[in-house]
Amino acid sequence: ETTESKNFIEQEIDKDLREGVYDHVCTRFPPEPNGYLHIGHAKSILLNYGLAKKYNGEFHMRFDDTNPTKERMEFVESIKEDIKWLGADWEDHLYFASDYFEQMYECAVKLIKKGKAYVCDLTPDEIREYRGTLTEPGKESPYRNRSVEENLELFENMKNGVYKDGEKVLRAKIDMASPNINMRDPILYRVAHMTHHNTGDKWCIYPMYDFAHPIEDAVEKITHSICTLEFEDHRPLYDWVVRECEFDHGPRQIEFAKLYLTNVVTGKRYIKKLVEEGIVDGWDDPRLVSIAALRRRGFTPESIKMFVDLCGVSKAQSSVDYAMLEYCIREDLKLKRPRMMAVLDPVKLVIDNYPEGEVEYLEADNNLENPELGKRKVPFCRELYIEREDFMEEPPKKYFRLFPGNEVRLMNAYFVTCTGCEKDEDGNVTVVHCTYDPETKCGSGFTGRKVKGTIHWVPAPYAVEAKVRLYENLIDEEKGVYNKEDGSLNLNPNSLQTRKCFVEPNFQGAKAYDSFQFVRQGYFCVDARDSRPDALVFNRIVSLKSSFKL
Ligand code: ATP
Ligand code: MG
Ligand code: MG
Repeated sequence: ETTESKNFIEQEIDKDLREGVYDHVCTRFPPEPNGYLHIGHAKSILLNYGLAKKYNGEFHMRFDDTNPTKERMEFVESIKEDIKWLGADWEDHLYFASDYFEQMYECAVKLIKKGKAYVCDLTPDEIREYRGTLTEPGKESPYRNRSVEENLELFENMKNGVYKDGEKVLRAKIDMASPNINMRDPILYRVAHMTHHNTGDKWCIYPMYDFAHPIEDAVEKITHSICTLEFEDHRPLYDWVVRECEFDHGPRQIEFAKLYLTNVVTGKRYIKKLVEEGIVDGWDDPRLVSIAALRRRGFTPESIKMFVDLCGVSKAQSSVDYAMLEYCIREDLKLKRPRMMAVLDPVKLVIDNYPEGEVEYLEADNNLENPELGKRKVPFCRELYIEREDFMEEPPKKYFRLFPGNEVRLMNAYFVTCTGCEKDEDGNVTVVHCTYDPETKCGSGFTGRKVKGTIHWVPAPYAVEAKVRLYENLIDEEKGVYNKEDGSLNLNPNSLQTRKCFVEPNFQGAKAYDSFQFVRQGYFCVDARDSRPDALVFNRIVSLKSSFKL
């Protein structure tokens, strides 16, 4: 812990504690329940939760549900599930911003009474026009100088449903000439005759994010309100709201750069389209990077934590390679999961000198690098399946697997020497033949000779048929994410490949989310939606080969 360097947020927190600005740390994760969480949100969750843990503070889970248009209860549940899965424990600190509507209303009344807010009748278009630009100051609204009494009455009318949507708004009275456009009399409240999932029809006015958020933070006594960079320009307004509403506790906003993955789609709009067009099979399709999708693909919370830690926290916008996420899951599963045999593209291997009808049960290590995972027995017999690419009739140089005359090791079993093959009319290999040497049994201590190739196999009569799904990026990486002409996504037509395969009988009983290494093929996870005990479906989480270097 002592040698570990601190990120800039931790340095700011240390400073605040040292200077007595705060005597404790309280962070929050405030999602809007309008969609599924993705890997970017995981960064924010683990960052906020991690800081609370590190400083012995509190972590609040708060649904920022102040905008009834897009919010749904369905998302509240999925967000909770994802955050729990990631291991961020909010204990009894679960909040809904809509529970503070009354307090927000009172804050607005207070601002009106102080002459700091007014009811404005300009249309949305006019408000935009009056706001000015980066180079031009804004123009004051003709309603800006209404009396406190008039404003109080009009605001109460707004609340009581006297006006239609868009007819009137409440605005902060700050400075129409401010170089920061966010400070040019921003809107605090709007009229919206809508049913809210939590408060029903109680309210027909709803607070804007820039007004609501600082109040939520102040009410909960959040100390460090961590958000992404696009809110940096809103910080003066955040501070203005906290100050003018006269909270005795002032939270502090700190911004960091969003997490972006190169050539990966995270935008809700795009994913929604992919779901609706049936290109992916839902928000948790294993090719997506929603937390639900990563979980279904077979990522673990530990791998995501490792990834987020490796990414670090900074103010500089950057994009991270997906290969880094793959590196993290390989590292996490390497010692934790059994390494078993599965043949993804099978061709039959017949051992002609092995007695017909006989079977022996060979012992195999579950994970050579981790003896704690124990051993298992694999049936071995005359007819096996091997990978089609592990045999070549006419091999190129440096091919050490099966070809006529060559001897290889069958993993966990014997040495076999290839004697030839059978082919169909089209020249496709249908059966490979070999003989085995009983002296060379694995574990017998045989040292008589060495072979260069080792291949895996499954016993044909005992193998279990299953389905595997092999994935590539949804996006055609050569072309980049978006089509230059129409802004649509450049999709990779090969992002999903489904295959029939054979796995060793020890996979029987594998349950949803169980994951394994298929030797030489990668890490695979039992699909939580489509797998059945008698029809297993595996998703490839990641192959074994890495393009990522730390
Ligand atoms: P999206 O539109 O991608 O869902 P959002 O900002 O609308 O993102 P919110 O529900 O408002 O989603 O986000 C909750 C929290 O997650 C916010 O504090 C936000 O800053 C943070 N967050 C969102 N996207 C990222 C990201 N890519 N990297 C880090 N934090 C993020
Ligand atoms: Mg969101
Ligand atoms: Mg948002």
